[in-house]
Amino acid sequence: MTGQHGLIVTGVLTIDAGQGYEDKETGQIHYRTPPRAKYECGLCLTREGPVYGVAPVRDFVREIRTGHRARCRPATTTATQHQQGAQAA
Ligand SMILES: [Zn+2]
Repeated sequence: MTGQHGLIVTGVLTIDAGQGYEDKETGQIHYRTPPRAKYECGLCLTREGPVYGVAPVRDFVREIRTGHRARCRPATTTATQHQQGAQAA
């Protein structure tokens, strides 16, 4: 999995395409194992997901790339404060 140019990857987005087969008559895909996605953020150490299904996975990935970045609160701030406190003590 490669990131798009300019996309800063700060977490791990895991997408499992699932396993299924296409119904030749209807053209629909029947899944034995539905697609799923989850995200583990390296900045705020939050886990999101997993979500299951074609549409939820698609929306989830889009949400991570926009929504999560907006609400992400890097845990490094707390770590820095802790470090300063340790030095002062
Ligand atoms: Zn985050």
